[in-house]
Amino acid sequence: MLNQIKGLHHVTSMASDAQQNNAFFTGLLGLRRVKKTVNFDAPDVYHLYYGDETGSAGTIMTYFPFPNMAKGHRGTGEVSETVFAVPEGALDFWRERLDHAGVHGIARDERFGEKRLRFLGPDGDGFALAEVAGDPRAPFARGPVPADTGIHGFRGVTMQLRDTDATAALLKLMGYEEVGRDGDLTRLVLKGGNGADIIDLERRPEAPKAREGAGSVHHVAFAVEDRAAQVQVRKALLEAGAHVTPVIDRDYFWAIYFRTPDGVLFEIATHEPGFARDEDVAHLGEALKLPEQHAHLRARLEQTLPAITD
Ligand code: ZN
Repeated sequence: MLNQIKGLHHVTSMASDAQQNNAFFTGLLGLRRVKKTVNFDAPDVYHLYYGDETGSAGTIMTYFPFPNMAKGHRGTGEVSETVFAVPEGALDFWRERLDHAGVHGIARDERFGEKRLRFLGPDGDGFALAEVAGDPRAPFARGPVPADTGIHGFRGVTMQLRDTDATAALLKLMGYEEVGRDGDLTRLVLKGGNGADIIDLERRPEAPKAREGAGSVHHVAFAVEDRAAQVQVRKALLEAGAHVTPVIDRDYFWAIYFRTPDGVLFEIATHEPGFARDEDVAHLGEALKLPEQHAHLRARLEQTLPAITD
């Protein structure tokens, strides 16, 4: 069993409208935009990052907003829900806030003893807030949400799968422990993780396969400290039969990717070098940052990328 993984690093999803996406995460959920850049493989599309003050691993929700992209359909073989941690007692505040903003799909539930509030993003993205006592991670303090109710970061994700055994075995190899079952749900936890350390697997043997589109999670990334730890994890995954990519420089972290037996795209990302690599922490996310290989496109991209007003 590996001990290099520290919990989630980031979750990356797709959206149909950059402005709407930015308003939802900064204006409504109160996260900080920590980077405004473009998709490495499709530089005509933004890559927007939202998180805490510095974009700590385990807090970073990222989006590729493809203009007018058709909505995805929830199903098996995907991350079906991204869960954020909020302080105990904060759900009444959030219910009113989200309701007032016209957010769809708001519903209370309880899972493994945790009080939760489910809701949908602008493209039908599945989200939940979970009340967590004593989460030490500071919510972003300069956003519109009071810090005593603010989002600490991720709690974890839920995956919908036809069968959960193979993914549970993979997660156990990665350092997760199974801590509970409730009907078709299996909960795995990374003990001693960064707070974003819960993975719930939901078994849905009869459900159709997910179709990817706006509102779908593209991939989920797990955190490791540095490149040395990443190499160790990569070696263990290869030995376990996973088809893992070489290490790729993503400017703000180093990444490797592989698909789970059920087709979910996993990434392992390093803490180093972080989002302050190319701009001061005081001004994270303000200017358009371009990867070096796309720097020559700046004049055109500044014309063609949709305007985002804060
Ligand atoms: Zn990623």
